[in-house]
Amino acid sequence: MLTEKLKTDEKNFKESVKRAAELLKRGGIVAIPTETVYGLAASALDGNAVKKVFAAKGRPQDNPLIVHIADISGLYEIAAEIPEAALECARRFWPGPFTMVLKSAGTVAECVSAGLDTVAVRMPSDETARAIIRESGLPLAAPSANTSGRPSPTSAKYVAEDLDGKIDAIVMAGECGVGVESTVVTFVTDVPRLLRPGAVTAEQLREIIPNIIIDKAVLSEPEKGAKVSSPGMKYKHYAPKTETYLVEGMGESFADYVNSKPRCAALCFEEESEKITVPKLVYGTKRDEKTLAHSVFSALREADRLGAEVIYVHAPSRTGVGLAVYNRLIRAAAFRVITL
Ligand code: AMP
Ligand code: MG
Repeated sequence: MLTEKLKTDEKNFKESVKRAAELLKRGGIVAIPTETVYGLAASALDGNAVKKVFAAKGRPQDNPLIVHIADISGLYEIAAEIPEAALECARRFWPGPFTMVLKSAGTVAECVSAGLDTVAVRMPSDETARAIIRESGLPLAAPSANTSGRPSPTSAKYVAEDLDGKIDAIVMAGECGVGVESTVVTFVTDVPRLLRPGAVTAEQLREIIPNIIIDKAVLSEPEKGAKVSSPGMKYKHYAPKTETYLVEGMGESFADYVNSKPRCAALCFEEESEKITVPKLVYGTKRDEKTLAHSVFSALREADRLGAEVIYVHAPSRTGVGLAVYNRLIRAAAFRVITL
């Protein structure tokens, strides 16, 4: 199929929002920018449209999608029970990179929830995303707009790399600000549980939910066949095509380690870049984890082009947004961690 490219400069913005909404209302699938990563959107009320999203991405059927809304009224249409802690989080973190899992009201198509009785809801802050949701009048199911298993796309060119010819349109905007997917918290358990870290940090969540539980899957590999609270966490994810290792620890410097290895490339911090003599990409500064989040997925994509046989990635600290970056990298590395 021909994938329409919809421009969002001042001259084309309104037309493109209208066109995207029209395609979505007709059951089409459209990649849209958000502040986290690009999403592949479909009407959450249209099971056939949602199935096209799973097909285009090659996404496993048991991995549910997040529903995107532009106004708080949407929450009450989609979710059946909204505990006070969830409302408090919505007031504090919406619109923004925060998703809550709640009991489903049964209004969205069954495949959105992948057969679960819960639904994940988020209100994005990105103005283009909000305009498209409002113009369509629909809740939009939108997973990341990549081929399943590949790094999530943080610019329209990466969406096109994976999905050109497979989807109805791409809304072309700039780079996503945050760079990693939303924080996911489930409120259907007795004590709320962090399923996926993101730009809304564990530290911020603890201010509202002091006893919040960090799900095991955030930092460790789920055991084979084990039941996981967040189905998405059990799959290989975000991976470059080249074999990737996450490197942490202080025994030896990261630069010395990679410099001694043959046919490798490095994803490193600005601070150490000068000392590294193998092909390398800087993915931010270790002083500010937000810069690492912003660039981690583009660095993982570009790393494949360095022509190495192995990629070593310097692990960030696990504080603040660093936890989200670490969570994505340990999956990109298929849980292969080297401690120096
Ligand atoms: P993506 O759409 O690619 O950002 O992935 C969505 C993430 O949210 C995945 O990790 C899903 O497993 C998780 N998720 C979505 N809906 C639910 C749900 N109802 N219960 C638990 N996790 C969910
Ligand atoms: Mg994804």
